[in-house]
Amino acid sequence: MPDKPPQAGIDHTQWPDILEDVRSIVLPALTHWQSPGFFGYFPANGSWPAVLGDLISTGLGVQGMLWQTGPAITEVETRMLDWMAHLGGLPDRFLSTGAGGGVIQGTASEATLVAMVAARHRFRKAHPHTNPGTLVAYTSNQAHSSVLKATRIAGIEHLRLIATDANHAMDTEALRTKINEDLNAGLTPFYICATAGSTSSGAFDPIDRIAAVRAEHCPDAWVHVDAAWAGSATVCPEHRWFLEGVEHADSYCTNPHKWLLTNFDCDLFYIADRANLIDAMSVTPEYLRNSATDSGEVIDYRDWQVPLGRRFRALKLWFVMRHYGAEGLRAHIRQHVAWTEWLERQVLADDRFELAAPRSLSLLCLRLTGDRDHETKALLEAANATGRVLLTHTTLPDADGRERSTIRVAIGGMGNTFESVQALWQLLTELADAATSDAT
Ligand SMILES: *Cc1c(COP(=O)(O)O)cnc(C)c1O
Repeated sequence: MPDKPPQAGIDHTQWPDILEDVRSIVLPALTHWQSPGFFGYFPANGSWPAVLGDLISTGLGVQGMLWQTGPAITEVETRMLDWMAHLGGLPDRFLSTGAGGGVIQGTASEATLVAMVAARHRFRKAHPHTNPGTLVAYTSNQAHSSVLKATRIAGIEHLRLIATDANHAMDTEALRTKINEDLNAGLTPFYICATAGSTSSGAFDPIDRIAAVRAEHCPDAWVHVDAAWAGSATVCPEHRWFLEGVEHADSYCTNPHKWLLTNFDCDLFYIADRANLIDAMSVTPEYLRNSATDSGEVIDYRDWQVPLGRRFRALKLWFVMRHYGAEGLRAHIRQHVAWTEWLERQVLADDRFELAAPRSLSLLCLRLTGDRDHETKALLEAANATGRVLLTHTTLPDADGRERSTIRVAIGGMGNTFESVQALWQLLTELADAATSDAT
């Protein structure tokens, strides 16, 4: 590409040139997230109903910072978040019809941050003389990096990464011990982030036990549940068990933009008592004053998020739900879980490989058997070098607590098929054979 922008514009007859440039310059330099062979990170789902919703949102060119600046933007969003709460079996306390409610955030990272800000606000209101420098946040050592980022942005000085158990879930006795140590040292626990489906291995922190520790030792602390990836699976009743205890959480989030057919960006953030958030975030300059806001009877979603402005993102969710229905969404999740179960059976039956963590929904973490970290890493690189698949890695502690090289297989991309999962397994076994014969 030229290093300076063009001086003269073009007319519509020259548009094919731009598209040709997209084809020749951009496409070859992309990671193809929608490819059948994409099993990296977590998926970035999209679907044509969602794309249409986004297109209409963009075409309407509206801005939903306040109820007054486009009432339907707010009203449709509120209804969609209530629909999604019903669909995922969330407790009624998160519905907009009570004291709670939901909002679309751009990302789970923003949800974690605004929950932290609301938590601090609520805490300091109850304890106005608390020194802000003593506030402590807790999450597990498997939690997403966005929790650390949120503490940095919010200026929280203490973050404890709590030890995890053999399944990589938060050890609540370790949480209890740490909270008590901190209390004894004059510090102030105010926020606990539980992860439902960790990024590395899909581990589920026990929300009910975390809430019980909170109730016992620091009842004014906030519990936020980050179900960014796994939350999509709760549209299936059989995949809701990991939400046990969520009725004690103060907030919850999940990303349909990962695994629920809705293109980026779309994070659903729910709060049990919306007043905490609005109180913490609301600032009204004269130029935004209006009679609807003053009436106190409408939602102004700008008070629920970091930015002021907001797109009409609820349209894409509405379209997805109308197009697929609850049954279609369940079928989407169930096929991916079934393919992952198939892959799990292959791994368990093959003594060249072992699981590095229990299968979590549609995420499988595996490695070569024995003390072969180097070969596991080489196998992953060799698989990616074929250009046929994309896998990403992590490290997970083994039974002796040693961090071991691990291949993550995240199924659930729009392009994935049972055939592409079978082809992945074929490739991995071929490469494992090559790795073994190299070694001998
Ligand atoms: C992907 C992920 C995130 C970050 O998601 P964004 O929406 O990109 O901020 C946070 N937490 C968990 C557990 C995740 O898997």
